[in-house]
Amino acid sequence: MLGFFHRGECDTLIAFKLDRIARNMLEGGQVIQLLQEGKIRRIITTERTYLPADNVLMIAVEFGMANQYSRDLSVHVRNAIKTKVASGQYPGLAPIGYLNDLSREEGRRTIIADPERFEQVRTLWHLMLTGSYAVPALWRKASDEMRLTTPQYGKIGGRILSKNTLYNVFHSHFYRGWFELNGELHPGSHPPMVTEDQFWRVQELLGRDGLPRPQRKHDFAFTGGLIRCGECGCSITAERHTKTNKHDGRVHKWTYYRCTKKKPGVTCSQPFVEVRELERQVDGFLASITIPGDIVEWALDSLRTENVRDRAVQRETLEAMRRDLEQNETARRRLMDLRLRDLVDDEEFRQRRSELASDGERLGRDLANGDDSSNLWLNRVEGAFCFCKEARTTFADGDRAVKRQMLEFVGSNLILEDKKLTIYPGEFFAGVQKAVENQAWLPLLHDVRTTSLPEWLPVPPQVVTKAV
Ligand SMILES: [Zn+2]
Repeated sequence: MLGFFHRGECDTLIAFKLDRIARNMLEGGQVIQLLQEGKIRRIITTERTYLPADNVLMIAVEFGMANQYSRDLSVHVRNAIKTKVASGQYPGLAPIGYLNDLSREEGRRTIIADPERFEQVRTLWHLMLTGSYAVPALWRKASDEMRLTTPQYGKIGGRILSKNTLYNVFHSHFYRGWFELNGELHPGSHPPMVTEDQFWRVQELLGRDGLPRPQRKHDFAFTGGLIRCGECGCSITAERHTKTNKHDGRVHKWTYYRCTKKKPGVTCSQPFVEVRELERQVDGFLASITIPGDIVEWALDSLRTENVRDRAVQRETLEAMRRDLEQNETARRRLMDLRLRDLVDDEEFRQRRSELASDGERLGRDLANGDDSSNLWLNRVEGAFCFCKEARTTFADGDRAVKRQMLEFVGSNLILEDKKLTIYPGEFFAGVQKAVENQAWLPLLHDVRTTSLPEWLPVPPQVVTKAV
């Protein structure tokens, strides 16, 4: 622009404000120089007109202020991003399953669950969790069966998910409620899609190169630390043997489970147990939690009726939680403000921030679970009750993966001692066991409201057996 004046092609500079002419000191200096030399005869702005005879000091000060303003602006932008990150908002494009909430003003946009895709992506995680799928198979499922596409923002998106994106999904901390920025992990304020445990289990399944771990040659249903020896505490392993009958030449195959007896200096006297015996005992346990079909129907009917009644109360609780969460967000913003003004030191800031973050995370999770929670809860209860109704047949017909999953699902602590498998059921199944034993269903119905239900229900067996 200044070239026109150097060459004498122009002599008047018109601008809205002086700071629009030069954004740095060098340019400002050149303009002043041209004005003093008379090559610029006037500068006209909306506020006043500057002439070669004017005091250049005032003009220099005005340029200086403009320069400082533009520097402050970039600091403001940096601080805005810092504030966003500190309050748990990922300052970028939401990954699939989530959306950037464009209904809010810029700078306050949060990331929300994508009503169209959240459950679809969650299903993919759950299928991954069964350990029966490799990523390419899930990708085919996502693209061919689910027709899962990326969300559309203007001209980008709206395409079938790529295989690579799916790999990234399964590796992304975002889905467990965190986000990564410049190599650092921050707690996010968006609703997590999977639990911590589920996320890390998938990482384990993917292994280092993103491929599911190869199956061992002999894959037994109950090995790998699922059951422990009651005598020495070592894990129970399995062996497969074949024996040919000398008389008729028929081959007899059998599998038995035994203690690994790996503890140094300890002699474990535990005998082996045949797989059929072990499965018979599991079946016995499942029989102890089997609820008759008509009872399941009656129970679910009553719970559904009650559910409608409880909704009003629940709405109030949710309101209170929402207020708590808002307060938490305000506290985080205030803390960030204090930090930016250097009123708290780094150490204190970090500690307080992580406290607030974990509080906020818990509230957010409760709220997400609570939002429409009665329906969600009802679904889980339904799932759990139906599991109890059909547990024995599902186990009998299930393949290795299903059998293992079921055992993991009903009890966390499995002990084998003197050929006897002891299963310590979780809270819900313990209640069921008691109800079945006493044939008293009302207490079960009463307690189920406050019982912690199992974290996730196994994918229905038919999905697992279809797996590749
Ligand atoms: Zn042992």
